[in-house]
Amino acid sequence: MKTVLLLLDGLGDRPHRELNGETPLEYAATPNLDRLASAGETGIMIPWKQGVPLGTEVAHFILFGYDMQDFPGRGIINALSRDVPIEKDAVYLCTTWSWVEEQQGLAIRQRWTEGLAPAEINELRQCLPQTTINGLRFDWEQSYDCHGVLKITGDSASSQISDSDPFYDNSYVMKVEPYESDTIASIRTADAVNIYLKTVYESLKSSPVNVKRKQAGKPLANFLLTKWAGEKPDIPSFEEKHGMKSCIVGNGLLMYGIAQLHGMDFIRYKDFQAGVKLALDNEYDFVHLHSKKTDEAAHTKIPMNKVKVIEEIDAAIKDLVNSALHENILLIVTGDHTTPSSGSLIHSGEPVPIMFIGKNVRVDDVTAFGERNCTKGSIRMYGSDLMQMILNLTDRAQFYNFRAGSKRLNHIPKSINKF
Ligand SMILES: [Zn+2]
Repeated sequence: MKTVLLLLDGLGDRPHRELNGETPLEYAATPNLDRLASAGETGIMIPWKQGVPLGTEVAHFILFGYDMQDFPGRGIINALSRDVPIEKDAVYLCTTWSWVEEQQGLAIRQRWTEGLAPAEINELRQCLPQTTINGLRFDWEQSYDCHGVLKITGDSASSQISDSDPFYDNSYVMKVEPYESDTIASIRTADAVNIYLKTVYESLKSSPVNVKRKQAGKPLANFLLTKWAGEKPDIPSFEEKHGMKSCIVGNGLLMYGIAQLHGMDFIRYKDFQAGVKLALDNEYDFVHLHSKKTDEAAHTKIPMNKVKVIEEIDAAIKDLVNSALHENILLIVTGDHTTPSSGSLIHSGEPVPIMFIGKNVRVDDVTAFGERNCTKGSIRMYGSDLMQMILNLTDRAQFYNFRAGSKRLNHIPKSINKF
């Protein structure tokens, strides 16, 4: 049986006064999602731990059945999303060109400098120092717009270092420190990154790009903020782990990078409606159909924007509803985390609604898809339960303690080693 996981990024939300105290999902008119809820088993899922806000990349890592302690860092996903070959023993950081001002420290004016032209980014790249610091070498590669990947190589390179990017505006560039570590390697790497960033700042300050931008009254690109250091992961592919041939149907670089990390195929759609068709029309055992629109709408901090996006998605999923109700597939609809459409948090840590539709599910009494409606459903689960539940509902789950081969499997293997 084929599984389609319809994942609406940042779907969960909070109640808003302008929506009569409802969440965007509760407020939106969603006849198709409600039909699915009526025909399915519903509930709530804690993506990782109660109250912990997650980013899309770590949330997917957990939902796909991997351990948080094996997460290699977003820097790796960004590098993979640009097809940068990941070298063993190298460290990869995410970077952004940013605008800072000296004010008892380096105060952030813009975490992501607005309106940088490709030619300007090329000039900025020329300003980056080519020196070796503490025996470490630094190489920078653009990923898109003002975002890039910084590769650190050398014997003592360590990914156990903190971020210089404070992640929130109205803050200061942070000193890079050894992170949850006191090894010589992490101390030397943190120290080298601080020296590197100081050198970059001195060189960018007086660069022709910034002189011209200052004259034109444009935001400057005088700092390279760094975050999310990571190293080459040592993890099995999605198919090795779950025995299912899988793909992500989505768009955007992040989802491509996530697919690369888990060894999944990637099918890019032009618009979501086309994505629904692509998700159904293929030979994969597991299809992850992803929309980022819900999360992006929530980040505008206008709840009605998310309502509109949810209603558009609802109108686009008719084919998926028909397949789920009339064909032999398992459909799951959920989000990866909560993105509140108001308040100061970027993402927040509430559970998300979830529903399973398929011939083996125990249909409950819930008839509308929403955060609080689903709380009345029968499922209580963590994100880490998802893959095992899918294997079970599609009759792939291995009987616990069967020893089919040299490794413990969560799924019935497609082939065995004959005697
Ligand atoms: Zn988000």
